[in-house]
Amino acid sequence: METRLSLGTWPTPVEPAPRLAMALGLGPDDLVVKRDDLTGLGGGGNKVRKLEYTVGAAVADGADTLVTTGAPQSNHARLTAAAAARAGLNAILVFPGEPEPAIGNLVLDALFGARIVWAGDVDHDGLAGTAAEIADSRPGNVLIPFGGSSPAGALGYVDAGRELRGQVPDLDTVVVALGSGGTTAGLVAALGPRAVLAVHTGALADPLPVVTGLLDGLPVARPIRAEELRLRLDQVGPGYATQTDAVAEAMLLAARTEGIVLDPVYTGRALAGLVAAVADGTVRPGARTVFLHTGGLPGLFGHPQALARAADGGLA
Ligand SMILES: *Cc1c(COP(=O)(O)O)cnc(C)c1O
Repeated sequence: METRLSLGTWPTPVEPAPRLAMALGLGPDDLVVKRDDLTGLGGGGNKVRKLEYTVGAAVADGADTLVTTGAPQSNHARLTAAAAARAGLNAILVFPGEPEPAIGNLVLDALFGARIVWAGDVDHDGLAGTAAEIADSRPGNVLIPFGGSSPAGALGYVDAGRELRGQVPDLDTVVVALGSGGTTAGLVAALGPRAVLAVHTGALADPLPVVTGLLDGLPVARPIRAEELRLRLDQVGPGYATQTDAVAEAMLLAARTEGIVLDPVYTGRALAGLVAAVADGTVRPGARTVFLHTGGLPGLFGHPQALARAADGGLA
């Protein structure tokens, strides 16, 4: 069922990035940036497109409280809190671990009035279980899935793929960070598997079955086989929350060539993946490449290691 709630500002812009393109070894007109960091609500980012569907369904079901999970610096949790405020609902955010100092996204969660539940020492499944228990504890609660990545949420990126095709008709490859998988799945459904280069961030243990599972629930022109998906698994480094050297360099590059801020977990990894893809010939000059900026700026201010490095001119 599709019950979409209007939360964002559409379409998001597509901007040329000639200086970044040339720094990467592409022609000046080969690269454009799709600004899904500018989606409008709550500091912006890709999760707004998914929340239009998942919160729309929750409102249609008569919910008064949205419950969701993620890492403490989750952009999805922050935007769920903002969407709840916009829709006149409450938000409960369930995070692993013990209470942490309010930095980055946690500051905004508090500003939007979300209630935070610290779930203690739990793994991914344990966290999901705690969130499900809270969601089931009273009838007005609705669980918004991890990262907003259900087939319903991914419909937001089917829309985005169509929007992008209209803006960039000669699109060859769109490069995107892969977290919970819904953004990649929606884009693949809209644009086909060859057009989407997804850079794994380490948010999931194994992204391939998650993306194919989401695709099973999406409208596709023809069935898509797992082998057709283009995933880069080489940018995770020591793990999801760690800023790698390649990411620190990619953040400097975007900032100093185009005045664009990337985050240390998602968009920095996506650009580091694009750098690697140009180096190994997967992305070539003369083809139109789109870098999808999915947001995440508050996460930079919630990442002490990346902040210290940025403040030192990236050299620390
Ligand atoms: C969540 C997120 C992603 C990844 O999107 P998924 O749909 O979870 O794969 C990319 N960039 C940013 C900034 C995000 O917050």
